[in-house]
Amino acid sequence: MKQFCVFGNPIFHSKSPLIHNAVFSEFGDEIGFSGYYGRYLLQDGMNLRKTFFELGLYGANITIPFKEDAFNQSDENRGIASVVKSVNTLVLEGKKIIGYNTDAEGFYRTISVNGFKSAVLLGAGGSAKAVAHILREKGIELLVLNRSKKRLDSFVSDGFKCSLMEDFSPQPFDIVINATPAGLKDENFPLDEDILKRTLSISKMAYDLIYGVQTPFLKLAQKLGIDFKDGKDMLIEQAVLAFELFCDKKISADKIRKQMKLVL
Ligand code: NDP
Repeated sequence: MKQFCVFGNPIFHSKSPLIHNAVFSEFGDEIGFSGYYGRYLLQDGMNLRKTFFELGLYGANITIPFKEDAFNQSDENRGIASVVKSVNTLVLEGKKIIGYNTDAEGFYRTISVNGFKSAVLLGAGGSAKAVAHILREKGIELLVLNRSKKRLDSFVSDGFKCSLMEDFSPQPFDIVINATPAGLKDENFPLDEDILKRTLSISKMAYDLIYGVQTPFLKLAQKLGIDFKDGKDMLIEQAVLAFELFCDKKISADKIRKQMKLVL
């Protein structure tokens, strides 16, 4: 049996074991091996690579706060991972660990049918970086807002249009994206409530990367009558892409997606 897991801290809440094991148990024959996917509470990101080998893993997902460690400790990073410098999927290839970022494409797949042309991104952390790079790659005009300067600096160096939240005035966007944890464990808005309200009321859609709770950000969008979406579909899409990377023998993305949605 091939072993996989998700590394993070905290990790207890992660839905990844649930959705990956559902696909392993349903499609083991088709992919040509049986797999088991666990969760691992890592204390120190410096031990990520060592632990991957000690556990005899074939692949892993990485969540908060180790995506940068995963980027630094893999032997090679492919695709958008090398641009974003953040890795959420590791795959064993021979004796090497290869790093990928499926958050970026996973996010884009959930909005690609909308034909959006402009976006504002709230937050400048790891997931914001993945989202920013894929939006730019797809030609969507983007403004990145953060409450403090430090993390925004790397977006400025990468050539993104950026602003501190305190300097921002409401303007219309096709999509307003919350890539901060505001509202996950509290009742906070990611941006000043009045400014956010005025922005959402002239925009088309509110998208929160958080899943599992209806945040004040999404409640506000609902109250204003604009389209809104949480991070559940992104969770599924990044996992579908990761599962495809875990398997040599391909099975259809639709089958993987359907099975994952069934258990989530
Ligand atoms: P990071 O810790 O890397 O970044 C956090 C960002 O949010 C920083 O820019 C920080 O600003 C800002 N921030 C934190 N708290 C607040 C607040 N109260 N108000 C305004 N800004 C705030 O987190 P990630 O980028 O890794 O994750 C962000 C969210 O996205 C998480 O809730 C996570 O669960 C979710 N996520 C969902 C995924 C999915 O598949 N659906 C995938 C990945 C992430 P500052 O720099 O000033 O500290």
